Amino acid sequence: MTANAPITQDVLTLPRKLPEGGKRSLVGLTRAQMAEALAQIGTPERQAKMRVGQIWQWVYHWGVQDFASMTNLAKGYRDQLDAAFTLDRPEIVSRQVSEDGTRKYLLRIAGGHEVEAVYIPEENRGTLCVSSQVGCTLTCSFCHTGTQKLVRNLTAAEIVGQVLVARDDLGEWPEPGTPKNETRLVSNVVLMGMGEPLYNFDNVRDAMKVVMDGEGLSISRRRITLSTSGVVPEIARTAEEIGCLLAISFHATTDEVRDKLVPINKRWNIKTLLDVLRDYPRISNSERITFEYVMLKDVNDSDADARRLVRLIAGIPAKINLIPFNEWPGAPYQRSDWARIESFADIVHKAGYASPIRTPRGEDIMAACGQLKSATERGRQSRAEIAAQTGA
Ligand code: SAH
Ligand code: SF4
Repeated sequence: MTANAPITQDVLTLPRKLPEGGKRSLVGLTRAQMAEALAQIGTPERQAKMRVGQIWQWVYHWGVQDFASMTNLAKGYRDQLDAAFTLDRPEIVSRQVSEDGTRKYLLRIAGGHEVEAVYIPEENRGTLCVSSQVGCTLTCSFCHTGTQKLVRNLTAAEIVGQVLVARDDLGEWPEPGTPKNETRLVSNVVLMGMGEPLYNFDNVRDAMKVVMDGEGLSISRRRITLSTSGVVPEIARTAEEIGCLLAISFHATTDEVRDKLVPINKRWNIKTLLDVLRDYPRISNSERITFEYVMLKDVNDSDADARRLVRLIAGIPAKINLIPFNEWPGAPYQRSDWARIESFADIVHKAGYASPIRTPRGEDIMAACGQLKSATERGRQSRAEIAAQTGA
């Protein structure tokens, strides 16, 4: 990849096509969308708010998968719901479990597209890494997702659906009548799967509103981290309209190198990015920003880079997440040597920043950061076949 490479790749962008004649799923809908759906089956306006509240709790708090279980609704109304809607989730095409307990789900969504979600269990928490797009239009040269040529934005429902699928699979829904279990298996959500979340801002925001809602999934905004390659105009909106924690795919300390690694830097360079980041913690009332830094041998991993990094971010409350490069077939880079990563970490640490080195998780199932790329593009179907299916 050269510095002149385009910021976004030449992709086939697919519109979303709902299965014809199929019933619509209520899973993943926002309160407003659910109210609208209920109005369509004739739910009187004065009842709508209450009905949404009831169904909402069944779907997002109890995780029920059929309308018959919604015992506080009249039998006739349950039948009416059942005739018009489903509670279907994205379909699990495959589930792989790594030696370290990481689970990778390949999910099929409308139009036959596929996305991946990854569950990473840790000692005191469990993190679900969700996707925001099928593929990614950006072309970061070290990222496998960036080589996928089919792209479509996920709907809010499909983003929320990933969380519900993981909870289903982990058996995490509460049992009515049993004491509340305070340990959450899916305790954190990171928008670090496939796609650039800030190129799908509205759907990501709506989805996170559902995930944060106290009467449902109830995952606090401090347990949600959105990772962006640096879509500067949307960063202030993220602070104002979502208020979650922010991670930045920083990866380089000069514009020359960042232009090559993260080509969106040619549009919004390091200075422009850092300027907008300075305001983020105040607007979102969060403590610090995570700077992600992938360690690429002889590209961005020198002691001089570490010192430049520290100088650049001076004044921003920050943590630096060092990510040893995860290889994928045909990748043009190598992982930095361990001693190099430690030396880099040491300089950052001595400057007063936490500098954890991220242990690659789920490498044996290609579930680590930057390795996700769905089979949609791996040749299972031709572009023409997929286009025919989606009416593109
Ligand atoms: N598109 C968003 C979120 C998804 S990527 C973004 O770029 O921030 C999640 C993180 O993994 C990003 O920091 C990304 O730069 C990093 N990453 C991508 N490919 C990687 C690889 N092969 N090895 C290690 N990290 C990688
Ligand atoms: Fe897209 Fe993020 Fe990969 Fe860059 S690192 S290509 S923005 S998914």
